[in-house]
Amino acid sequence: MDAQTSTPTHYEQLALYIDGQFLAAEGRKTQSVINPATGAAFAELPHATRDDLDRALASASKAFQSWRFTSPLERGKVLRRVAELIRERSPAIARNITLDQGKPMAEALQEVQTCAEHAEWHAEECRRIYGRVIPPRSETVRQLVVREPIGVCAAFTPWNFPFNQALRKAVAALGAGCTLILKGPEDSPSAVVALARIFHDAGLPAGCLNIVWGVPAEISSYLITSPIVRKISFTGSTAVGKSLAALAGAHMKRMTMELGGHSPVLVFDDADVESAAKFLARTKTRNAGQVCMAPSRFYVHEKAYDRFVDAFAYVYAGLKVGDGLAQDTQMGPLAHERRVDSMEALVADARARGARLVCGGERLQRDGFFFAPTILTGVPDDARLMVEEPFGPVVPVTKFKTTDEALARANSLPYGLASFVFTNSISTANHVTNRLEAGMVSINHFGLALAETPLGGVKDSGMGSEGGTETFDGYLVTKFVSQASLVP
Ligand code: NAD
Repeated sequence: MDAQTSTPTHYEQLALYIDGQFLAAEGRKTQSVINPATGAAFAELPHATRDDLDRALASASKAFQSWRFTSPLERGKVLRRVAELIRERSPAIARNITLDQGKPMAEALQEVQTCAEHAEWHAEECRRIYGRVIPPRSETVRQLVVREPIGVCAAFTPWNFPFNQALRKAVAALGAGCTLILKGPEDSPSAVVALARIFHDAGLPAGCLNIVWGVPAEISSYLITSPIVRKISFTGSTAVGKSLAALAGAHMKRMTMELGGHSPVLVFDDADVESAAKFLARTKTRNAGQVCMAPSRFYVHEKAYDRFVDAFAYVYAGLKVGDGLAQDTQMGPLAHERRVDSMEALVADARARGARLVCGGERLQRDGFFFAPTILTGVPDDARLMVEEPFGPVVPVTKFKTTDEALARANSLPYGLASFVFTNSISTANHVTNRLEAGMVSINHFGLALAETPLGGVKDSGMGSEGGTETFDGYLVTKFVSQASLVP
């Protein structure tokens, strides 16, 4: 690895953002930021004090009293300017994501640039937050249903897509007329600070967006239990999501939960098997597999199995793994040491239960948090790798004989986020789509997470949607107005 490539010369100035002001450490507790490609700390992130959190709550509450009454045209104008600034600043933001999160630069750039589309979609869609008129029982009465912003929101966003996850929550809350306090990922913070600077420079009034950092459980419990916060949105693991949902439920707070997944992939023997395998290998490589909707349990028809494994292994064998700042890197490090430990444990468990290692299987002997692209075949359904979200570049492949068997195994987990089907039969595609227990089904490609399409899971994968025309549903409350005119 070229140590030169990991020198952070222009890293983001890390800060809190409260009431329209960027606040540096200035005596606050700080936390080191680590480059996953080297394992070395290179920046310090300030943590919010209790006083900072109180000021964020007060400023979000005050700003809500005017932001809620802005016209959608005005909110759309800010969001369009946000989109422009995202495009302008995307190379620098992407480079910093590679430094503190690890993904290859090209992927980081794509993550940031597609966010411009999310901002534009919300700029447009907020003009269509319609109510309705209900026919009255008397001609002197008018009955209206109006949808109003719910109030101050708190969002908690993860490290795997640090810009995208924060941006999606910000544009949905602000587009609806809510204000927001957002805690980003402390491990990979640069993207969220860059996002705050973009909203600031786009003219968002002070207090509408506040960014805080700290010990996740301390911040979330303080914000969720505050009477000022009316709604929470979380993206992360199912375990953490359930604990935040319990707290939110106890305080009657609305919530959107985008949680873990373990996406089944059903490959039928009438599919173009080699192309599917190569496509899936490249898709699984993205962000080193740290994607909630990554294809992650592979059920392949017995007649297609050997061809599928060979083609998948061909792509994995040729992957260039390295520092994401190097131009030719196709897969970067995992984001943290703890993910490498998880990969090792999942592989050891699968092998102990009889799985065969086709390639990889171990951490790379170099600095940083690198794990080899790994394929295991014949993985039994009770192996940890088949029941726990791997969130890494480890691929379990198993055979199936009948469609009913494949469906039963695909639906056997509590997760229900994404699912994938590869077949050239329309009737197989329809049959399977109707029966998969998942919030998203993608057939013969990866067609998910666009601005205009809803993203969300069922079962333990969460509740509510981000994106699509559903995007504002979680941020609005319904008010019924019944108005009579006195008969002269
Ligand atoms: P984790 O469960 O400790 O944390 C997941 C995320 O939640 C992190 O961003 C973390 O900062 C945040 N978090 C943790 N506790 C919190 C709390 N009490 N309040 C608010 N936020 C809190 O796990 P991890 O080691 O960081 O990530 C590994 C697992 O997380 C993966 O196996 C995956 O299941 C899940 N994950 C899912 C997504 C997703 O897009 N759905 C994203 C990142 C991580």
